Amino acid sequence: DLIQIIDEVVLILKSSADKKNIALEVLANSAEVPVIANRNRIKQMLINLIDNAIKYNVENGKIYIKSEKANGNTVISVKDTGIGIPEKHHSRIFERFYRVDKGRSRNMGGTGLGLSIVKHIVNLYSGDINIISEPGKGTEFIVKLPL
Ligand code: ATP
Ligand code: MG
Repeated sequence: DLIQIIDEVVLILKSSADKKNIALEVLANSAEVPVIANRNRIKQMLINLIDNAIKYNVENGKIYIKSEKANGNTVISVKDTGIGIPEKHHSRIFERFYRVDKGRSRNMGGTGLGLSIVKHIVNLYSGDINIISEPGKGTEFIVKLPL
């Protein structure tokens, strides 16, 4: 049950969200959302996405984590109100060590591996991941995993 895993991840990351006064909102269209995959891998995927949504968000920002079952897929969306990612970087951010703004990212810590791990996990289950982002507005990552 994906909702249960999301709740666990929110608990893990809550204190880092609190430091920037970021609200985490969990949305689902049913009481349970099934996902057929290794529990720890799904957890790791969510940690990496939500960690980014906190790290690249603004003070008092918001994060919406949505999960649903739709057309034979489990669909997971992590959406933030942060700094966004310019379109020209969208095709490269899943590469290992790729970071949008090297100077800025270095100050924030991290290695540039988070999204490459997410992509590996999504591929492992024959899923796909898409990004919708606008600089200054925010970013949404949408993961589809086949049921
Ligand atoms: P790590 O995850 O290894 O700690 P990282 O966060 O820099 O380091 P990734 O998670 O792979 O690495 O992300 C790659 C780059 O994509 C980031 O450096 C950042 O520039 C950009 N990025 C990722 N998620 C977001 C987001 N939600 N909003 C804005 N930029 C993002
Ligand atoms: Mg990251």
